[in-house]
Amino acid sequence: MNFSNEIKNIPIVSIITEAAKESGIEVFLVGGVVRDLILKRDRSDLDFLVIGDSLKFAEKVANKIGIQKVTKFRNFGTAHFIYENYDIEFVGARKESYNRDSRKPIVEDGTFEDDIKRRDFTINAMAISLNDKNFGELIDIFNGYNDLHNKLIKTPLDPFQTFDDDPLRIMRAFRFAAQLEFQVDETIMKAAKEMKERLRIVSQERITDEFLKILSAPKPSIGFKLLYDSEVLQIIFPEIHNLAGVDQRQDYHHKDVFLHTLIVVDNISQVTENLWLRFAALVHDIAKPQTKKFVEGIGWTFHGHEELGARMMKNIFHRMKLPMNKLEYVEKLVRLHLRPIALAKEEVTDSAIRRLIVQAGDDLQDLITLCRADITSKNPQKVEKYLANYEAVMQKVLEVREKDRLRAFQSPVRGDEIMKICNLKPSKKVGVIKKAIEEAILDGVIENSYEAALEYLMKIKDDFLKENDS
Ligand code: ATP
Ligand code: MG
Repeated sequence: MNFSNEIKNIPIVSIITEAAKESGIEVFLVGGVVRDLILKRDRSDLDFLVIGDSLKFAEKVANKIGIQKVTKFRNFGTAHFIYENYDIEFVGARKESYNRDSRKPIVEDGTFEDDIKRRDFTINAMAISLNDKNFGELIDIFNGYNDLHNKLIKTPLDPFQTFDDDPLRIMRAFRFAAQLEFQVDETIMKAAKEMKERLRIVSQERITDEFLKILSAPKPSIGFKLLYDSEVLQIIFPEIHNLAGVDQRQDYHHKDVFLHTLIVVDNISQVTENLWLRFAALVHDIAKPQTKKFVEGIGWTFHGHEELGARMMKNIFHRMKLPMNKLEYVEKLVRLHLRPIALAKEEVTDSAIRRLIVQAGDDLQDLITLCRADITSKNPQKVEKYLANYEAVMQKVLEVREKDRLRAFQSPVRGDEIMKICNLKPSKKVGVIKKAIEEAILDGVIENSYEAALEYLMKIKDDFLKENDS
């Protein structure tokens, strides 16, 4: 298969081809860029595999196009720079071996094949030649092209070995499955389940990074189901793992909270890219297992799960090394996620609505988005009714806001100025004149500005002062 037409559109390709020819070394496009090119997914980072000194080669290419700043990582044999909004990375072919206590490989220079073999998945192990003799040709030692076509994540070598060497690859498998909406090969599931404890040698930052990429996918449930089925979730996020399971008591059973949560996360992911709103959806019912109680004649209750859930966030943020500046936002959404539905009742007071407005602040719209996503009933009539309830709450919010706005409204010309201009002492009259100005603005007689209000005051003041005399 030949991709010379497709890669010709990439601005830097011809320059790299020329530089490779001049230095007499082989260079390939490799990894994610090849995968995404075949899938026709846009991307801005391009990885070039150099069979030789990648740092020197990067320097040569940079010289040709007048780039000054090349960042080099001598230990990893990589160099990169930015060119026309592309993140260009050069990596020297390498061979890796692993020490069991660390996911950091021992790296030596290697051949093209050594380098391809060390890659995580067959769909990430393809290369396209940029060399004269076979320019544009796809080099696909592990049949990645077929797996792409079959939407399958598979390791080039034995997955047990692959995951033993670098356990982060377990997370990466599920992440790619979620991002691309692919399946993972059965052998990956088996190996993941068996090797899951190995994830403990991986840094929390790496795990969290992959985890958040899963949550950013178009349909995050694909990744979470894999995490659950492989029992990896038990290690990386036990509180979510524990949401699974249904208790049966007499005729009452409650919905499996894990499956409900996944639907809520998928729902919200259809309407927002806001990662922290998605995270709030993931954790909104996190305290249900702890608060679960069976009440005779009523059934299952989860009293206070929203408050306890909010309080669990701080520890989870610390443990998972999540950005602390998002903590308050997530706590707030978890804490308030039942409130709007409680306010949908007819006879709710203005002050209850006002309390929601104040507590939710700028995040009220996000809260309603979460509440809407939280509707997972399969009965369309119920869904419609619940959605209408939220509409009604938002309508009340608008009404209360409008009332408050009007109440807070004041004449731009204030009382003390009215007193000075009219030569009045503090008295009821001052208030009457001020009110007259406000009414004129509300009725649209004059515009809401200081100048207009002052001009209006000059016009009406004598009438009012005359009244006073009588
Ligand atoms: P993305 O679009 O998310 O950047 P990518 O495929 O470019 O996807 P990277 O993490 O940037 O993923 O890695 C680039 C390439 O390096 C991969 O395509 C893969 O070939 C290889 N690679 C990255 N991480 C690993 C790993 N942990 N084990 C083996 N190979 C890896
Ligand atoms: Mg990449």
